[in-house]
Amino acid sequence: MLLRHLIRTYSTSRLRNASVPSKDGMKRWAIACAGGTIGCFFYYNSYYLPGQLRQNELSPDHFTRYRISYKQDVDQAHFLLELTPVAEQKINLWSKMGCEKLWSVEIKQPDVMVVRNYTPLPLQVNPETEQLEVFEDDKFAGGKLFFYIKQYEQGEVARWLHSLPENHIVELRGPYVDYEFPHYEGEVRRDRRFLQSGSKDPDAQEKFKYQQFDIAMFTAGTGIVTALQLLLTENPFRGSMDLFYSCKSFDELGPLGSIVDLLEKNDRVRVHLTESSKQPCTEKRLHEISKCILKPSIYPGLVPYNGKSDHELKPVLSLVCGPEGYIAAISGPKYDLTQGPIGGLLENKQWNNDNVYKLT
Ligand SMILES: Cc1cc2nc3c(=O)[nH]c(=O)nc-3n(C[C@H](O)[C@H](O)[C@H](O)COP(=O)(O)OP(=O)(O)OC[C@H]3O[C@@H](n4cnc5c(N)ncnc54)[C@H](O)[C@@H]3O)c2cc1C
Repeated sequence: MLLRHLIRTYSTSRLRNASVPSKDGMKRWAIACAGGTIGCFFYYNSYYLPGQLRQNELSPDHFTRYRISYKQDVDQAHFLLELTPVAEQKINLWSKMGCEKLWSVEIKQPDVMVVRNYTPLPLQVNPETEQLEVFEDDKFAGGKLFFYIKQYEQGEVARWLHSLPENHIVELRGPYVDYEFPHYEGEVRRDRRFLQSGSKDPDAQEKFKYQQFDIAMFTAGTGIVTALQLLLTENPFRGSMDLFYSCKSFDELGPLGSIVDLLEKNDRVRVHLTESSKQPCTEKRLHEISKCILKPSIYPGLVPYNGKSDHELKPVLSLVCGPEGYIAAISGPKYDLTQGPIGGLLENKQWNNDNVYKLT
């Protein structure tokens, strides 16, 4: 009852339904878990931090002030934005959320009083070299948040954000959990030091408590940040990811492109790139994507770890994130806050509402 209440309370402030791979009862469990986790976060924030600190801490209950500490155009439409909290944060959200929770924050446009969600990445810009750095485990630079944003000609908030100068103060609310994976009690944290060293550790041997599961992610444009958050966060996603990325050109990612390459070289992800600049025909692009979509595998649940298998990826879940038209083509249209039936390319490959989740 309490969990149901939490879900209802926070779904209005953007906690969208979360679900997990098909297994009896698992879907409902995860929804409850998402509500519960948000509830726990509020509880922690409200009761364990003294008054002033609580006010300073990022929370869905009030807006927190952040300074624009870096802004860089990638091209005419895309830009990178680093926000530094005016008051240093106490809670390391990267360690708290790990790969179990996909999360976003809301940024307020005060003139028109609207908010929009943006998905932070665990990155910061080195002020001397201007290079992007992935946070090391247990480091979070006092709560800096990094974003990859697209502005639209008629858009309200992204265009406004882009127009702001460095050191301008903006207000944020959150975090909001957009999707939640099952929690594996006592699971070993996944190493991600290759993201700092830039090279593969030949001696790195992974051993987990439970067998990992693989997922497929279908992303277009800035939707790729959802995949990047799972792959870059502290204790990143433990399985392999089949990442479909549709864009005009890979160059749109700017410096994020080399991070994607590094993840792929280290077998964290297999990237299927579809560039409209190289293939202008939408039907042909969809055909290319379709050829690479694997059929769903069954979610194994909690199985003791028995080593990484060398064979083909076995995705048990597909997450879809991008503009409406993209979501519709891949997985059937999403109806406002409801998922709608699974259609499009995923339906053709036997995916269904139990193992597909449309994110935006
Ligand atoms: C959970 C979540 C996380 C998000 N994370 C990010 C992120 O990290 N980076 C990011 O750039 N965006 C992200 N978004 C999208 C973001 O919230 C805004 O919707 C986006 O910035 C557009 O807002 P706007 O106010 O600038 O445009 P709006 O005023 O909302 O839109 C005006 C017009 O812009 C065009 N437009 C707006 N959005 C799209 C679109 N997706 N595709 C095509 N045309 C569009 C349409 O013509 C629309 O009529 C996220 C959304 C959600 C729900």
